Amino acid sequence: MKQVIAGNWKMNGAPDGVAGYATALRGAAAHTLLIVCPPFPLLPAFAAALAGSGVAVGAQDCHASAAGAHTGDVSAVLLKQIGALYVILGHSERRADHGESNAVVNGKVRAALAAGLVPIVCVGETEQQRDAGEAEDVVRTQLTHSLPAEFTGLVAYEPVWAIGTGRTPSEADVTAMHAAIRAALVAQFPATGATTPILYGGSVKPGNAAALLGLPEVGGALVGGASLNAADFLAIAANAPSV
Ligand code: PEP
Repeated sequence: MKQVIAGNWKMNGAPDGVAGYATALRGAAAHTLLIVCPPFPLLPAFAAALAGSGVAVGAQDCHASAAGAHTGDVSAVLLKQIGALYVILGHSERRADHGESNAVVNGKVRAALAAGLVPIVCVGETEQQRDAGEAEDVVRTQLTHSLPAEFTGLVAYEPVWAIGTGRTPSEADVTAMHAAIRAALVAQFPATGATTPILYGGSVKPGNAAALLGLPEVGGALVGGASLNAADFLAIAANAPSV
């Protein structure tokens, strides 16, 4: 399976940046699956600019309902209609900024699947939890409660303390956590858990991508800050192993 390199633009970007970025990605070698996840208003422009390129477009959140009185929210159904194929769910910034519990994430994952979107579900421990030796238990609990029985899609392991900080876990810690996630997925989803891609996220840069992406059970990367620059994003993808 190709490695997946997904860019999470968060609350960044502007309309005048779409065409150049899309052109740069269109010209890239395709030994990875690239996914761009811009803010909602840029999704239609990205979907149009990347149509037929093999580069996919994803959203950063969706609501658990298909429609209704939810001011400011966006449904998975609408995201699918405007060209998104993927949706990031349960990102630690949503869990922290919007109080999203595992149960809320679970509802969003079900809505995404019902709408035909592929969820990228984020899990990860805080620094305090890691220091207390609770990291694997925290992540296992997130998986158990965030993923519904019908889950298919991707999981992203993103230690909260590594996001946007320039810090990354040791290679041994990434390897141990990805092994723990794989075991949990196989136990929870006997039919699909062995092949669910597990991305690593948290301060992935061109300079550390080869080491991180080469670790066992790392199926790609979820990239925040470095995805805003097309050259850096492509340099990360270039460092993914070919399969
Ligand atoms: C993220 O927010 O998903 C992320 C991994 O951010 P960064 O790469 O900037 O650490």
